[in-house]
Amino acid sequence: MQTLEELKNEGIVLKNRKKGNKYSCLGCNSWFKQINEALGHKQSEDNSITKLGERFKGIDRLLAIDSEKLNDIEVVLARKAELGKIGISVKEGYLNHGIRLKDGIGSQAYVCLECNLSFT
Ligand SMILES: [Zn+2]
Repeated sequence: MQTLEELKNEGIVLKNRKKGNKYSCLGCNSWFKQINEALGHKQSEDNSITKLGERFKGIDRLLAIDSEKLNDIEVVLARKAELGKIGISVKEGYLNHGIRLKDGIGSQAYVCLECNLSFT
């Protein structure tokens, strides 16, 4: 049980599927049949690359800046969700105005590099 909790803290959740239970890494969109595979993934370089946002491409990569909170899976998922939610023209607007995606949630969801402001 503690193991499941550990996985959940990393964004890997157990899902009930018709063909049997599977573990899903919400950060990487990966699926695992066995808990050992899920645990292995938790430690993997692949998973840490996702957490650091290094999988973001193009404008997303420019928009997302480093956050001290990337160990917090909520922040990792919020950043990903945020990039999926806003359109390309909004992203371009943010970029041009010096606004960057930081935590995706909370008081530092976005920051403005120009005026050092943070906002939700
Ligand atoms: Zn992962």
